[in-house]
Amino acid sequence: MNARGTGGSAAARTKATSRAHSTGAGASQSAMREHNLGLVLEQIVDATEPVSRADLAVGTGLTRATVSALVDLLVSARMVHELEPVARRTAGRPAVPLVPARGTIVGIGLEANVDYLGACAIDLAGNVIAEEIVEDDFRHSSPDEVLPLLGGLGSRVVDAATAHGARVAGACLALPGIVDRVNGPLRLAPNLGWADDDLSALRTVAPFDTIGVRVANEANLAAVAEIRALHAARPSFLYVSGEVGIGGALVDGGVVFKGDHGWSGELGHVTVDPNGPDCTCGAEGCLETYAGKDSLMAAAGLARDLPVEALIEAARLGDTRARDALARGGRALGIALSSFMNLTDINEVVLGGIYSPLTDWLVDHVHRELHKRVLTAPWVDMQVKASVSGTRAAMSGAALSVLRLVVANPGDWGALEPGAWSELDGIPAPTAADHAGAGPRPAGLGPAGQEEDA
Ligand SMILES: [Zn+2]
Repeated sequence: MNARGTGGSAAARTKATSRAHSTGAGASQSAMREHNLGLVLEQIVDATEPVSRADLAVGTGLTRATVSALVDLLVSARMVHELEPVARRTAGRPAVPLVPARGTIVGIGLEANVDYLGACAIDLAGNVIAEEIVEDDFRHSSPDEVLPLLGGLGSRVVDAATAHGARVAGACLALPGIVDRVNGPLRLAPNLGWADDDLSALRTVAPFDTIGVRVANEANLAAVAEIRALHAARPSFLYVSGEVGIGGALVDGGVVFKGDHGWSGELGHVTVDPNGPDCTCGAEGCLETYAGKDSLMAAAGLARDLPVEALIEAARLGDTRARDALARGGRALGIALSSFMNLTDINEVVLGGIYSPLTDWLVDHVHRELHKRVLTAPWVDMQVKASVSGTRAAMSGAALSVLRLVVANPGDWGALEPGAWSELDGIPAPTAADHAGAGPRPAGLGPAGQEEDA
């Protein structure tokens, strides 16, 4: 049984809530059952290998009989799939390995970023069922034009997922900006040129007019995907999302730190030099003006719409401007990160987005600044490494954050009412072959970033 703490949610849930039986109230019994149902599903989804009912009883502190009854509900709700039984080494009935169901329920991840739009559908097992990407320049675009286009991508992804028999749990949109979880969905996305937009244009496109869309900051969502991909117990790190802008997400013990408004992690606007270049935010010398993609490309004498691979190739060929641009960007990044480490005592940094392929070119410059500026440098292991969650991590994290809501409350999705799934009777359930090879897998949904209804 793997008990990765991908989510502080796993640790935060109380084990063995059977003690609540002393209340005796029907409502409490029902709430307890629903809580335990989520607890069992979470353990199955977060495990890196198939688990048995016995494993779940140990992991949750619930009785074998209770676990079995809950698993049966999850199986009939097509959230969990039973693999072929395997013989035990000891006497007794063969164990039935349990895995998250593939292709039965999906979260929709949407992303609007400066140089691409994307939509994907991911199932409980972590598989991408469908994906659509459009690459273009969306700097200073209009949300009223971009969001219907994004909605069209999302709509096609939903159609593809439902054609496979999947049920859509909801949608989440990743944005490179400040998402207000108090007064409105989007305060500012400076590189898109969006400010105080209500994003309602997205909700004019079916099916988002009915299922709605939650909204969250792209770096926070990318960190959700990174937590899942790391397979580490309750990791703490700063996720740095390098694009035209630079986002950050502070992960503390497997949980994304949100701040008072959900606005934490604006690393790109940390001041590197108050006498530096003008920034899109109105200040001068922000990290973005040295290490954002546009700034790196301009300093290297390359067109800003070229892929970052052009910068890598120029540096590899020994181009002085390209290497100087990377040295300047890496130094600025190191200065900003040293402030972060001095403040937080979190000494691991994950470089995502364009920084992932650039890590080898940046890391020495970053480390030089860290060793100079971080007070505790002699005693801590400061790590700066490339992200393992791949490209489009924010879009994946958006879909995963939707699925996490399902895992937290499977009863809301029909797990306590098997009849609610009768609408799917005409659709064949995934077969054992669909789940063949469902051994170790990159499961686990991790904690969500803050999300608000659009
Ligand atoms: Zn700025």
